[in-house]
Amino acid sequence: MASISMKNIVKKYGDGFPAVNDVSIDIADGEFVILVGPSGCGKSTLLRMIVGLEDITSGDMMIGDRKVNDLAPRDRNLAMVFQNYALYPHLTVFENIAFPLRLAGASDSEVTEKVNAASKTLELDEHLQRKPGNLSGGQRQRVAMGRAIVRDADAFLFDEPLSNLDAKLRGQMRSEISRLQKRLGITTVYVTHDQTEAMTLGDRVAVLKRGILQQLASPRQLYTNPGNLFVAGFIGSPPMNFLPAKVSGTSVELPFGTVQIPQDKADKVSGAAANGLLMAGIRPEHFEDAAVVDAAREGSTFRAKVDVVEWLGNEAYAYIPFEAPDEVRGQLEQLERDLDGESLRTQLVVSLDGTSRIAEGDEAEIWVDSSKMHLFDPATGENLT
Ligand code: ATP
Repeated sequence: MASISMKNIVKKYGDGFPAVNDVSIDIADGEFVILVGPSGCGKSTLLRMIVGLEDITSGDMMIGDRKVNDLAPRDRNLAMVFQNYALYPHLTVFENIAFPLRLAGASDSEVTEKVNAASKTLELDEHLQRKPGNLSGGQRQRVAMGRAIVRDADAFLFDEPLSNLDAKLRGQMRSEISRLQKRLGITTVYVTHDQTEAMTLGDRVAVLKRGILQQLASPRQLYTNPGNLFVAGFIGSPPMNFLPAKVSGTSVELPFGTVQIPQDKADKVSGAAANGLLMAGIRPEHFEDAAVVDAAREGSTFRAKVDVVEWLGNEAYAYIPFEAPDEVRGQLEQLERDLDGESLRTQLVVSLDGTSRIAEGDEAEIWVDSSKMHLFDPATGENLT
């Protein structure tokens, strides 16, 4: 197995905007790293440059301590698992897994030994004589991984392997990949546009936008401490709410009223706040129906007219319309485009406990944990808190 190190990787197709723009990522031996971002952000291009299916315009690609920029894909000893698994339909599971060994001229006894060992690990031993057409999606995925295991590949590379599956199967496959990766301890790079996959699978997640690495961090860090507006809006569902904020000391004036933030947050933004409006970011779950919040719990309350309530049993989402003022409208519109069209400008989404009695049309009292509020520089998008 091996580490993978990308140093200032650039990919240009023709004269246009770089598809990958100065990306540096160090992946440790055995680590599971996700490349995530909206369509066209360059994640597949980056993966293809690791495997060698795409030339690198500039920068260094290292696998272990070998520079592989000019190595052919077959000499990089990596195993790519594609969306359609690329299995041979006319060959049995055994022969599909054995394929790379046969290609390398391995003896029959070596083939049998390695295929048996891999199929045990992957719990495929009962299916070795079947053809791929008779396997479930999950089993096919495991055959594709088996092919990688028998080769003793240095790393697994996955390109959106689950995007053709329905939601239920996707969930099962996700936990299966995670379990196998942990068991095998093999370095893994996994491309997806699905933030749930990114958050549940990776040790670390690299968020990309238009070829530029936005943040590389653990799922928890990305969620609790997003580096900028884009990451904050991309990670989390329903997405974080963004609201124009006038900050003065520890008071933050939002479209619904004024809330208080802790002194340390106020100190961090005092310079930027002096220049005008900031952008506040508050996740839906940091709101609550004031009637169900313990009165001793610190936070702020405000009154707002609730437009729609979606009750889901254990929780409910309330939608509260608002109009973003001109000063931040452009920034929010840009963010909506970057995030593929979420309606960030026009409504606040708040999560309520399932026991809440707030109903559509109510002028409700809403509580907010303002200590969890992020404040962003609206011009650069940087998280100041
Ligand atoms: P998706 O999720 O839609 O596959 P992605 O994030 O994987 O998107 P890439 O496929 O890496 O994005 O593409 C990044 C950018 O490079 C896009 O703007 C795309 O149009 C461009 N691009 C990709 N391949 C080529 C190519 N062979 N020639 C020219 N431009 C390309």
